[in-house]
Amino acid sequence: MKSLVLERKDELSLRDFPIEREEEVLGPRDVRIKLHTVGICGSDVHYYTHGRIGPFVVEAPMILGHEASGTVMEVGSEVTTLSVGDRVCMEPGIPDPNSKATRLGMYNVDPAVRFWATPPVHGILRPTCVHPEAFTFKLPENVRFDEAAMVEPLAVGVHAATKARVKPGDIAVIMGAGPIGLVTALAALAAGCARVYVSDLAEKKLQIAESLSPAITGVDARKESIAQRVRADTDGWGCDIVFEATGSPKAAAQVFEPLAPGGCVVMIGGQPDPISYDAGAAMIREARVENIFRYAHVFPRCVAMLASGAIDVKPLITRKFSFEESVHAFETAAAAPPADVKMQIELPQ
Ligand SMILES: [Zn+2]
Repeated sequence: MKSLVLERKDELSLRDFPIEREEEVLGPRDVRIKLHTVGICGSDVHYYTHGRIGPFVVEAPMILGHEASGTVMEVGSEVTTLSVGDRVCMEPGIPDPNSKATRLGMYNVDPAVRFWATPPVHGILRPTCVHPEAFTFKLPENVRFDEAAMVEPLAVGVHAATKARVKPGDIAVIMGAGPIGLVTALAALAAGCARVYVSDLAEKKLQIAESLSPAITGVDARKESIAQRVRADTDGWGCDIVFEATGSPKAAAQVFEPLAPGGCVVMIGGQPDPISYDAGAAMIREARVENIFRYAHVFPRCVAMLASGAIDVKPLITRKFSFEESVHAFETAAAAPPADVKMQIELPQ
């Protein structure tokens, strides 16, 4: 079937691609899905521009895409919760149900997890896919396909806010106003934060951040120190939580500076190389440090919050392309236009 294929680093093509793997066979507890909307993720772009992410190396042509929504077109014989015609979004990582990590409730860190568009597993920038019922979530009528394709990045923010153990009235700092920083801001507010400061170097991104909620304050890191600003606004105390969502070693080195005593730092941004952080600054605060890797079973919560209006991701969707324009879409995403947050690709229906 016609798919967006990363042939090798820097080379994409939209071409017929035979998927004859066993995962395309409909098992009794699988559903076949007609894809509708697929978001372009930073990781997809990184595979395109670098050919690898850490230990995951593209060694053979691979279909990109993992942030998706669609419609159920066929169900396996033992499927009970989904029917043909249901609108759904899909969690892209499939763990081994019998693994120790899964049984401990943290299947996202299962080394055996199979995740779309992570070599050697194909992604879903293609007309159809087969997916387990257990990782396919039905959409309420008022959640659109484009919002539903935002559930995957949103899940990262919701998992981060969960790990932070946000309490009502907390003050949070988010370093980085990219898609993950912004969904984390929305998740932190939905979890009860009174105020969220978002720091970034790009003014346009800060404007988008502030447009999401009156409880979000943008801080231009080129002009103002986030630590000084937060201390000035909190009588010198600091913030309760810092979410690091840049993946920049420079930002990570300063991650404890705005933090109040007893506060929590959540490391979200990927760090391909070892970094140093100020352990002394962490110590004198008795800071709690959490690390997250993707998410574990938060898709239903994300869908529920989109449906209720507790979280609105629509302003984050800044550009849409047709499937035919996929290669151009990736070239555009790789150029990282400052006014864009999330770009999406719509498949023909
Ligand atoms: Zn993603």
